[in-house]
Formats: sequence, C-alpha cells, structure tokens
Amino acid sequence: MRYAMAIDTKKCVGCSDCVVACQTENNIPIGYSRDWITETVEGIYPGLHLEIRSERCNHCENTPCVRTCPTGASHIIEGGIVKVNHEECIGCGACIQSCPYDARYSHPEGYVDKCTFCDHRINNGQDPACVSVCPTHCMYFGDLDDPNSEISKIVSARKVKVLAPEAGTKPQIFYLV
Ligand code: SF4
Ligand code: SF4
Repeated sequence: MRYAMAIDTKKCVGCSDCVVACQTENNIPIGYSRDWITETVEGIYPGLHLEIRSERCNHCENTPCVRTCPTGASHIIEGGIVKVNHEECIGCGACIQSCPYDARYSHPEGYVDKCTFCDHRINNGQDPACVSVCPTHCMYFGDLDDPNSEISKIVSARKVKVLAPEAGTKPQIFYLV
C-alpha cells in the first residue's frame, strides 16, 4: 500500500476550495493552512505558460522531517502517510527546517502540524477533504501499489512531475502536466 495523490495542473483553476475544505475538515486555526495554491509562470514572452498547483506535504518516501525529529513525533504510518504526533512534539522546528517544501507550520498551541492525507477520512473509505470538494475534479487519490487504481492508471498514462526532485525525497504528490 502506497498512498499518493495526482493533481492535474491543466484542470486546476486556483479557486482555493481545497484550502478552505482542509481548514474546515481539520479545524486549522485562522491564518494557518496545511495546503495552498502556487502559481508559476515559465517561458519567454509571448510563449508564457501559467501553471496553477494545489500544494501540500508530499508524503515523501525519503523523509528528512522524520529523520531530524528528536522525539519521534514525526513518523510514518501504513500507506506511507507522514504524520506528527502532537503530544510528542516539542515544537523545536527541526522538521520545518529540513523540509524542502515548506510543508509544515508551527501551530499556535506549540506543536508542528501538516497534511495527514485526511487519514481519518481514508479510514472511512472517503477521499481526503481537498480531493472531495475540487470543482474541476483535478485531484486523484489512491494506492499507487495497486496497478488497477485510478491514480496508478492516470500517473502511467500522463506526463508527470514532482516538485524539487533534486532534493531526493521521493515525493508522492504527482503533478500532471
Ligand atoms: S514534504 Fe516535507 S514534511 Fe512532507 S514528508 Fe516531505 S519532507 Fe516531510
Ligand atoms: S517540531 Fe516536533 S515534530 Fe518537528 S522535529 Fe521538533 S519534535 Fe519533531
């Protein structure tokens, strides 16, 4: 079992419904967020290309955030989901410093927080909140180890990229380009 997400950059319109859904689902304090929208412009005028992406923790296979955590609060659960045990976290910020994606934030209650792939929803057979509300259906979530899963098929069929591959973290969020 290897949970992963694929996000179609050709369908994402940057509406932020995924961001709001996550904040609501996971009771994120106002002013903080586990996911966010990034817009990048590439190319040279007049051949410019705008890419809009919904970003979050990449649930990397190779996890500097877990390795640098001195208490074991940052850990990996079944399916490769990277989580933070809030009770064990001392808020030192080592994981924040080591993440190449700026995917973690310091919660005002003193611990570090990040995307969980909504594992509480997955366990009930539901998609993560962000995936379930996207009005353009640009996000796919599932088991990449299952060749018959929707995400396996779309990642195989389409051109994909991951963010900052040079970091060697083996991200499990794939962007369809
Ligand atoms: S994106 Fe950052 S926080 Fe998430 S697993 Fe990778 S290194 Fe850790
Ligand atoms: S802030 Fe918490 S989760 Fe991050 S490295 Fe320190 S103890 Fe571990």
